[in-house]
Amino acid sequence: MKAQDVRLADETIARLRGYAQALAKSGSLWETGPELDDRGQRAIDLLVTRLSNMYPYGDPRYIGQILKPPHPVAWLAQSLTSLINPNNHALDGGPATAELEKEVVAKLATMFGYEKHLGHLTSSGTIANLEALWVARELRPNETIVSGGSAHYTHERMCRLLGVAHEAIGQDNQGRMDMEQLEARLQRGGVGTVVVTLGTTGLGALDQVHVAAELAHRYGVRLHVDAAYGGFHSLLAQGDTPLVDPAPFRAVKRADSVVVDPHKHGLQPYGCGSVLFADPAVGKLYSHDSPYTYFTSGDLHLGEISLECSRAGASAAAFWATVEALGLDRSGLGAILADGRNAALAIADAVRDSATLNLVVEPELDIVCIFPEHPTTSRVSAGSEKMFSTLAEQDWHLALLRVESTWLTKRYPSLEVDSDYVTVLRSCVMKPEHLAIVDDFVAAVTRAALDS
Ligand SMILES: *Cc1c(COP(=O)(O)O)cnc(C)c1O
Repeated sequence: MKAQDVRLADETIARLRGYAQALAKSGSLWETGPELDDRGQRAIDLLVTRLSNMYPYGDPRYIGQILKPPHPVAWLAQSLTSLINPNNHALDGGPATAELEKEVVAKLATMFGYEKHLGHLTSSGTIANLEALWVARELRPNETIVSGGSAHYTHERMCRLLGVAHEAIGQDNQGRMDMEQLEARLQRGGVGTVVVTLGTTGLGALDQVHVAAELAHRYGVRLHVDAAYGGFHSLLAQGDTPLVDPAPFRAVKRADSVVVDPHKHGLQPYGCGSVLFADPAVGKLYSHDSPYTYFTSGDLHLGEISLECSRAGASAAAFWATVEALGLDRSGLGAILADGRNAALAIADAVRDSATLNLVVEPELDIVCIFPEHPTTSRVSAGSEKMFSTLAEQDWHLALLRVESTWLTKRYPSLEVDSDYVTVLRSCVMKPEHLAIVDDFVAAVTRAALDS
């Protein structure tokens, strides 16, 4: 099934139209300003029709990309605040939402174990990482930035943008940065910053942040943690019965900076990333004059510590309200993430026992990658693609991932390599509702694999 052919269920479209009508009836917030006239109303009707060409992201059978609807508190808070439309660049652009942003960012800092911090929300993880790399370059000019071979593709691009040398470190057979290769590279010298990933976008693999922190300390380099995807899983690393490997999460507090995306696992609408620095003094890098005073004063303008200028105050309000409603702890947001993680573990258990399916790696978070049993890498690719289409016709929406054949055969030595790359199936088991469909999912992928 092609993306342009997908369509939301009629009930979903009808519900969307219902929301549009109800909101139109509530009228404008202000006494003055434009009214919704007939032409505006027709545009909204047409929009609802146009929006029908979407995958059903909220349905548990959608288990493909990193996409799910926001929490109701988040979209209500975002919609309400957008009626005022504050801008979190300067304090007078939105005093209330600037305050909410500082409060919720302080909670993120606590989640990561930072005692002090300087940080703010951003419009995305890419921009948040750019900012961390820019600070790294300012502090360690003319030194190389290294990241893992499975790090997000934007690191390499942003290093080019910043005019700083970038090198990739190879991955181990679990898809994590190879720490021996990292140490060998640090020994050779010339590296200023190491970027580790906590939850790679492809496999959800956890780089060994605790080992990297030790190495960064020993070799005197900066450490940045890209936890855009997996940062909120810190909540599952707490307590006596952690649901994820706690060691890398507990080491985030030793890193110089960290990025986490509230618009991924923080249940927010798109447009909400964040970056935090352990040393508030990096704030002086943002300004040409008046270096330090802004950053210790209580009246901080968020725009003075951000690469971006305008940013939606509504995003800060939405994230703040969500954290207020759920709690940024194991029993709040953590409980929602735990359901996805448990569903991923249950799927992995079934696949491990299956004669027709294989796990690419043991899932460390809630991303599960599988491939059908076939003798050669090219047959595996063809089988995965066939499964992808067959499943889509049955309204199961997965994603595809391309990995290096020689890397996969480290775990599967009997697989014959006859292509450079091999395509596998990837599932983001990121909704609590996935817990209830584990058996149906495993049955569907098993049938599709037998037929691949
Ligand atoms: C998603 C992701 C990014 C990019 O974040 P955006 O919010 O999509 O810009 C960076 N790093 C990792 C590990 C990610 O998963």
